[in-house]
Amino acid sequence: MSDISKIDWHQSALDLKIKSKAFIGGQFTDSVSGQTFTSISPIDGRTLAEVAACDVEDVNIAVKSARKAFKSGDWSNRTPVERKAILQNFAQIIRNNRNELALLETLDMGKPIANSTSIDVNATANCFDWYAESIDKIYGEIAPTANNYLALVTREPLGVVAAVVPWNFPMLMAAWKLAPALAAGNSIILKPAEQSSLTALKLAELAVEAGIPQGVFNVVTGYGPEVGRALGMHMDIDGLFFTGSTQVGKYFMEYAAKSNLKTIGLELGGKSPFLLLESYKDTKRAATTVANSIFFNQGEMCTAPSRLIVERSVHEEAVETIVNIAKSLIPNNPLNAQTKMGAMVDVAHTERVMNFVNIAEKDGADVVIGGKQTRIKSGGCYIEPTVFDNVKNNMRVAQDEIFGPMLSIIPVDSVDEAIQVANDSPYGLASSVWTNDLNTAHTVSRKIHAGIVYVNCYDVDDMTTPFGGVKQSGIGRDKSLHALDKFTEIKSTWISLDI
Ligand code: NAD
Repeated sequence: MSDISKIDWHQSALDLKIKSKAFIGGQFTDSVSGQTFTSISPIDGRTLAEVAACDVEDVNIAVKSARKAFKSGDWSNRTPVERKAILQNFAQIIRNNRNELALLETLDMGKPIANSTSIDVNATANCFDWYAESIDKIYGEIAPTANNYLALVTREPLGVVAAVVPWNFPMLMAAWKLAPALAAGNSIILKPAEQSSLTALKLAELAVEAGIPQGVFNVVTGYGPEVGRALGMHMDIDGLFFTGSTQVGKYFMEYAAKSNLKTIGLELGGKSPFLLLESYKDTKRAATTVANSIFFNQGEMCTAPSRLIVERSVHEEAVETIVNIAKSLIPNNPLNAQTKMGAMVDVAHTERVMNFVNIAEKDGADVVIGGKQTRIKSGGCYIEPTVFDNVKNNMRVAQDEIFGPMLSIIPVDSVDEAIQVANDSPYGLASSVWTNDLNTAHTVSRKIHAGIVYVNCYDVDDMTTPFGGVKQSGIGRDKSLHALDKFTEIKSTWISLDI
């Protein structure tokens, strides 16, 4: 692997040839209307590309192409071993194109190039490898019926599925859907967020190079209320798998109800609690973890530990540690290889996040560090790491998902109060408890209502464990073998053995 600090990413960005048409039936194609929208980099406001602004007609064409590919059996009827080999090849091609994919990701949504190269590209490739490896090891079942019958329980691909994804990890969130969907034999239509279309298009091109037949993997670019809605409402899409905000997730339930009752999977927002208890002996270590996690990816993380619920006896030490880390994290141009904190995704999101500083102050929280935009002259979107202290859990900065580098600290007086505050949220995605007491670790983990609990750690990443939330954080799970449940239908076949 080349040393990324030796690459002149600024020059590479100038040399980059960006493809920005939709990708349907294995070809780059203009939208039927000929409309485009401008993709602007949050790094400095530069124009990156004019991207195809698709609508219902383009979605119809993509669905037809995906259906035709599915029916042809070129992919769906391949043996699992053959699909495995092609997906492994795809993973390797993704790695071979690491620098271009990482650069597109950073230009499009502002994350540090050091992260795009080391985290996003690798995790995307690993995800394809993992599902490739799994698919020829999954067996059907024979049910324990009466002896005069043989009942087979088999898995079949859903058929044509769609994935609608957000902009915070554009490639990786897409891969979490694409890899199990393709491994299971489905055809897929991917709709990237309008803020971050570019890596999706590049991935689709590389998929054809890897040997995935034309029409099996399509990308329809454009706005949510047009393209996302058209996919949700389509009568010939069998499953729609969404990652994004809770509000839009609810629309997809509605779209399914108003159309063909397609299967829906939802990975939605979060307001994850991080319980720092006095029974944990290293407050500094825990506080360092919460700071590094909330400011990672500019705070644009569904699992960001955005509520630190801390017992009062260790509150002061925790705040001091977090503030020191916040001071050292200076947002900078994400194309510099040393940058740890980059740009927010766009102007609208920056304004939305900044508004929470006013809300925090109005509600009576203390802004102990940050709270300002920075590098304004660059023309880009940068926000200082921000900490709100003495927050009450009924304040908006404790209830609303901010999706930016802003931490709300809520002091509490007991473990029971910490659990009560943790669960007093519409969300239930990730959570964390820090204690050295084994009994407390187990009892608190059980009482927290969330899809994921980390004990004395945070955001551990591995393909082997399911990822997703309860309450308004979603329905279903990405990652692990459980994700394959979403992308397959179970069929029961009864065979009479009476002769
Ligand atoms: P968003 O909901 O605004 O957009 C997500 C996608 O939905 C985009 O592709 C968008 O174009 C589309 N969309 C928007 N409006 C639509 C509509 N009316 N009909 C159909 N489609 C529509 O979310 P975002 O701002 O891109 O991403 C941030 C959100 O994603 C946060 O809430 C975050 O927590 C969530 N997220 C969740 C996970 C998870 O795994 N749980 C992971 C990453 C991000």
